[in-house]
Parts: sequence; C-alpha cells; structure tokens
Amino acid sequence: MLDKVVIANRGEIALRILRACHELGIKTVAVYSTVDRELKHVRLADETVCIGPAPSAESYLNMVALISAAEVTDAVAIHPGYGFLSENADFAERVEQSGFIFIGPRAETIRLMGDKVSAIRAMKAAGVPCVPGSDGPLGDDEQESVEIARRIGYPIIVKAAGGGGGRGMRVVHTEASLLNAIALTRAEAQAAFGNPMVYMEKYLVHPRHVEIQVLADTLGNAIFLGERDCSMQRRHQKVVEEAPAPGITPEQRMRIGSVCVEACRRIGYRGAGTFEFLYENGEFYFIEMNTRVQVEHPVTEMITGVDIVKEQLRIAAGLPLSFTQDDIRISGHAVECRLNAEDPDTFLPSPGTITRYHAPGGPGVRVDSHLYAGYRVPPNYDSMIGKLIAHGETREVAIARMRNALAELVVDGIKTNAPLHRRIMADANFIEGGTDIHYLEAKLGLKS
Ligand code: ADP
Repeated sequence: MLDKVVIANRGEIALRILRACHELGIKTVAVYSTVDRELKHVRLADETVCIGPAPSAESYLNMVALISAAEVTDAVAIHPGYGFLSENADFAERVEQSGFIFIGPRAETIRLMGDKVSAIRAMKAAGVPCVPGSDGPLGDDEQESVEIARRIGYPIIVKAAGGGGGRGMRVVHTEASLLNAIALTRAEAQAAFGNPMVYMEKYLVHPRHVEIQVLADTLGNAIFLGERDCSMQRRHQKVVEEAPAPGITPEQRMRIGSVCVEACRRIGYRGAGTFEFLYENGEFYFIEMNTRVQVEHPVTEMITGVDIVKEQLRIAAGLPLSFTQDDIRISGHAVECRLNAEDPDTFLPSPGTITRYHAPGGPGVRVDSHLYAGYRVPPNYDSMIGKLIAHGETREVAIARMRNALAELVVDGIKTNAPLHRRIMADANFIEGGTDIHYLEAKLGLKS
C-alpha cells in the first residue's frame, strides 16, 4: 500500500480522501490556504502544509507549492480530488516527473479526454454511441458550418472543446443565429478556457443525464459500477443525483456498461472515471468523460458497497481491483442532495460562520461534510458544503429517508439550499422519477 498521500484539495472531498487513507493505514498530508486552517481534515491529518493565500490560483491551483508539499513531507502520492487540478494533464505530468504517483489516469489520458473533440473521436472509435454532431472542430469556413448544422438539423448546440463546469455552450434554434452564436461561443471559450476551438452537436430537447462509473487498474482489469441519474440540474450543474437511474433495465445497464469497460481497455484507462451520457427515447449519447472521482460517487457506493476512493488508492499502489464484474450487485436505491451555502431563492453564495450544526442520522443516512459548529465558510471557493446521501431498499424508502434527513438537518448562521431540497423531495414528478435535465429550471420558473 501507499505510505503517505498528499490531499491536494479542501472541504468535504479532502475529508473523504483522508478517511479512506486512514482506513487503509495510509498517512495523510493536508495542504491548506491561509483561510482554511480550521478545516476539519486539516485537524485530523498526520501532517499539514500551508500552501499559500486564499485565492485558488495561489494555493489549490499552485502546482509548485503542491509538489513541494509532497517533497518536504516525503509523501509518495498526490490525490487531486475533484475540481482544482484534478483534470489538469500538465499537473499530472509534473507530479509524475517529480517522482510522485498521481492518483488518477495517465497525463495523456487526461489530455485526450479534457479536449471534448478528441474525447468524442476516441469514444466513437471505441464503439461508444455519441450525439450526432460536427465530428470535429468547426473551421473558419462559414458556409461549411451552415451545411454541417443543416445536416445535423436544428436545434443544435455549439460547445467549447475545452469547456467545463457547464460553461461554454450555446443553443441555436435557427440558421439565422448560427454564425453569430459560433463567433460568440468561440470568443467566450478563448477568454474562459484559453482555447477557441468549438464544435457542434444535435441539441437533445428532453434528455436525461445518465452516467456510468468505471474503475480500471494497471493490471488490465476494468469494471463498471452501474449508472447514476443526474438530471436534476440548474445551469447545467447537478443538484440531486440518484442511483440506479429510474427505468433503466438490467439489460440496458449491462449493454452500455460493457461498452464503457471496453472503451477503458482500448484507451488504457487507469483509476476511477465517469462516462457521461444524455439519455433520450431509450438511447444513450456520450457527451464527455470525467477522469476523476465525482461529487456524486457516494450514491454508487451505497448501492454497490464498493468504496470508490479506496479503490483509487489501491489502483495507485499497483494493486488489482478488489472486485470483478461478477461480484458487483446493485442493492436498493440511493439519492444525494448537494448542500450549498447559498440563498435558496436567489442562489447567491452565503458564506459565514456556522453557529449551530446538527447532522441527520438513522438507517441508510450518510453525511459527507466538513461542517461543524463554529466553522466559518470562507467566501473564496465553491459554495458546496456537504452532501446528504440516503439509501433504502427501494427508491421510495431512499426518498423518505432523505426527507427525514432534511428535516433533522440544522445549519444555522448561514443560508443553505436545504429548503430547495425539501421542495424537490416533495415534488410529485421527482417522486414519480425520470424527469429530464430541464425539469428543475422549469419548476423554479427559470429560463435554461
Ligand atoms: P461540462 O463539461 O461543462 O459539464 P457537458 O458536455 O458535460 O459540459 O454538458 C453539461 C450539461 O449540458 C449536460 O448535462 C446537459 O444538461 C447539457 N448538454 C450538453 N450537451 C447537450 C446536448 N447535445 N443536448 C442537450 N443538452 C446538452
């Protein structure tokens, strides 16, 4: 096993990684910015290193500081978590060139999947079904773009090859607005991602977001852990996730999961990963791959009993996966609510000090959060402060347990989106299951 790991992240995922490391007897190094001294995992880590001031660019995105933290503590590996540098191929490369293990795929895989155009090409070649589209970046020839859009059929969506976090996308309904939309998306992509490359896809009107979790070790073994439904979104950002996806049959699951596993073998994938699909009229359409652990990984853990973060650590140590595909059984249903420090009506961030905190409990309830009474949520980072996960023998039981959990939860001193989650858990269409990616915004009366 690995001896000592640097946790190159903060908040709930840093705590999640620390717990997995300590379970496996791995020593931990917590790195933190000057506003994060009081983070729960910093208090629990074996060693701590301050890596810089509050702005992420000077701390959690500071490659030199992170690699030095591994050097001064004699760590052997770096776990990037999600967000920050987790999908940065240059970081993965520099970590390995400095003699440390990057807990994730090889840098070249991250690079391949980080560019959505090259990712779609690679997936198509591996037999993964993709959204009909331009099959490559759009060039400067305007007439050619017009023709590609006609061939695909409106509505189409113009997307940045380097986009992420739900940004760099524009839906086009008519030919009249096409060229302007391409130019605008290109300019935004250049400004936001430093890469002006854009491509076109058919815009699916009522899809669901269904994704497949995979694990691959360095010995040639790859498995999938079923699917998650992450259709409850606002601004292309997930709000509630669940597993399994309502209405997906075991045959459908096996078919799409096997395709993903085969794609992992083809590209020599290593570690945990997610194939994201849009699902419409019984068909899956690949949109992108995330080459890291995801926020919503717990719902998969609850229904399979597989600890995804421990598997990541085992894979990084060169050990085989603890499970074969035949060992994987889906048991019951799990739902996750992302708890954000934000106003539930305006969605404006609400940082500040937590005056009272009470975490829910009971059968099937899991809380992944770094919160405690007296903790101050800094204004500098993502507003997610934790996740509530509820598991039950059926979807109904999981939702009922989530309702209980939300009723028990107390977070005072700041505003949270818990009231929004209470509304969703009481929503007749959510309870019915299978709502599409536009449902939440429509319910909230927001324009997508
Ligand atoms: P990001 O990397 O920014 O997360 P994705 O490519 O994963 O971008 O897309 C994020 C979300 O945008 C999807 O979950 C879906 O809601 C919407 N979306 C993306 N592509 C399409 C499409 N072709 N048709 C309809 N909606 C789409």
